[in-house]
Amino acid sequence: MSAIVFRGASILGKDRADILVEGDKIRRVGVDLSLPKESTALEIDTNGLIALPGLVDLHTHLREPGGEDAETVDTGTAAAAKGGYTCVFAMANTTPTQDCPQVVEQVLNLGRQAGRVDVHPVGAVTKDLAGKELSQLRAMHECGAKVNVFSDDGKCVFDPLLMRQALEILRDFDGVIAQHCQEPRLTEDSQMNESYLAKELGLKGWPGVAEEMIIARDILLSLYLDVRVHICHLSTARAVELVRWGKAQGAKVTAEVTPHHLFLSEDELKGRAALFKVNPPLRSASDVQALRTALADGTIDLVGTDHAPHPDRLKDCDFECGAFGMIGLETALPVISTLMVRTNQMTWADVARVMSITPAKVGKALGQGEMIATGSQANLCFVSPDTSWQVSRDSQVSRSNNTPFAGKELVGAIQHTCYRGKLTVTNGQLQF
Ligand SMILES: [Zn+2]
Ligand SMILES: [Zn+2]
Repeated sequence: MSAIVFRGASILGKDRADILVEGDKIRRVGVDLSLPKESTALEIDTNGLIALPGLVDLHTHLREPGGEDAETVDTGTAAAAKGGYTCVFAMANTTPTQDCPQVVEQVLNLGRQAGRVDVHPVGAVTKDLAGKELSQLRAMHECGAKVNVFSDDGKCVFDPLLMRQALEILRDFDGVIAQHCQEPRLTEDSQMNESYLAKELGLKGWPGVAEEMIIARDILLSLYLDVRVHICHLSTARAVELVRWGKAQGAKVTAEVTPHHLFLSEDELKGRAALFKVNPPLRSASDVQALRTALADGTIDLVGTDHAPHPDRLKDCDFECGAFGMIGLETALPVISTLMVRTNQMTWADVARVMSITPAKVGKALGQGEMIATGSQANLCFVSPDTSWQVSRDSQVSRSNNTPFAGKELVGAIQHTCYRGKLTVTNGQLQF
């Protein structure tokens, strides 16, 4: 059986230990582990590195089928492994839409062929994301892809009756809807955050209240029906307050924030670069501050990347013609390290919680987000905590390069990623 010993990493930023991996499992964790006699183990020196459970992204757009000029399951899972991920949830807004067993199983199989991370297809809530009629929710859960997370992401499940009906079906098997909160009428043709800057730039505003009223509605539905709801990509201070209120009332609500909403404010848009165009939009500096505080105090449960690849022609163009979305898998952990760990607002154990343990729990990803302990599936990532590097658009593994962090200095780099006992990344290099 193949074996790997990772020597001397600091487990979740605490005590140092060796981790012995045999086959696809963690066999032992301890100090100065001796090697099993019969096996020829690969030894990797991980002194000075932080060992975390492999990261789990509840919000990835892999674009296949239908958007292969931007990303494929193959290139997207390569970007994920490079970023320390061992599991991603692939959003449903593909062409054809992931709204039936056939398409979710296609994506599942493409993920298995790539073999770098677990790919969990997300099922669409409504047929074709059209918001008119429910998709085959139960059939997608019962098929080989065993879908537990449903979302019309990119669009909001706006019709409250359809939302209620979907939540009631999902209650039977404890599935969850990840809601993209956007009141459609208040955001028609919107380009950026509604603010003085939007007026100055002559761009149509996307008011925070359009996000907040759907969050409020869905928290109320969650309370009324006693079901789970997951709120995608919170972007405003008041959205945070609503989630805080819902949790205090006992609502089964979980909330997500993206690395870009934590790092960047609408001020980035002053040069009108479409690279910074995203939905929901980058908000004010005080919103950004509220999001950081809420992630640190646990009001926001997890970090999701909303990795949204687009080809150059849709990003290197006029702001108004640009597509909404940014890539994020390769930079997510370094962004959180730079913003939250270096500033002592979060520990590495907190990072493990918000980027692996909780997203695995919300999406019910078996074998992911487990403790680094005997018997766990060997999904691990190793971070060099003090390595600083500059993000460049040219060095992305993703098929697209629309990173909003280009030119930014980040501290913290993924050194190794281990997926089910196989090294997908060593010394920062993708292995296959
Ligand atoms: Zn969204
Ligand atoms: Zn999204």
